[in-house]
Amino acid sequence: LYIKHAYNQRRDTMNQVAASLAHEVRNPLTAVKGFLKLIGEKPQDPHKIKEYIGISMEEIQKTESVLREYLFLSQPPAVRREAIDFSEQLRVSAEGMASFAAVHEVELEVRRPDLPVWIVANDEEMKQVLTHFIKNAVEACSGVPYGKAVLTLLMDKTHAVLTIKDNGSGMNEEQISRLGSIYFSTKSNGTGLGLTYSYQVIHAIGGDITVTSKPLVGTRFTIRLPLRYEE
Ligand code: ADP
Repeated sequence: LYIKHAYNQRRDTMNQVAASLAHEVRNPLTAVKGFLKLIGEKPQDPHKIKEYIGISMEEIQKTESVLREYLFLSQPPAVRREAIDFSEQLRVSAEGMASFAAVHEVELEVRRPDLPVWIVANDEEMKQVLTHFIKNAVEACSGVPYGKAVLTLLMDKTHAVLTIKDNGSGMNEEQISRLGSIYFSTKSNGTGLGLTYSYQVIHAIGGDITVTSKPLVGTRFTIRLPLRYEE
């Protein structure tokens, strides 16, 4: 039984981001400050110090991710759009994620037409979006035996249709309903900004996203993007 969920466009995202950003940055700062205080106050076991530094580094890295993705989100929707070959872009993005997939021991397969698939979008933004979806699929499969993510690009009369299917952790109904909302993340090092950003970019060019998922079975995202209108 797959659960279907159509994404409803969310407004006021930036207000929500601004409100919670301070919070997101303050928490790790507090943690790091606490560890520094511990190390500075009295002599510590070197193993403990190493542990404190390890946790602090993780906290700092997470803060960096939050800020980086916040900056992406706060940019106005790209004004500069051009015709891009989505098929070629998919090939390049998957290639860029090949080593990430290998590290997680996840097979990454790309099926795409040999002919160009023209859409109108901002090149940088779409690359970022593809990377987010591939990264999520790979992470969902991490630790799963025979973990596999398959990206399939097809065309119908009006749209480019990309499905990203994985046999990873899957999601329950509650998790599916929170997809794309700010700061929803089930990962210890996640920011929950990647999909928020991706949904915005896709909606800005008139596309839409649907998802079906089942816990412990896997997830399939379907992204539909209008094909470039030929005059
Ligand atoms: P992050 O990856 O930093 O957590 P995202 O916005 O990219 O943030 O994703 C939000 C959440 O959506 C993830 O933490 C995960 O719970 C869920 N998710 C996204 N893609 C998948 C997937 N392919 N399989 C299972 N869960 C997913």
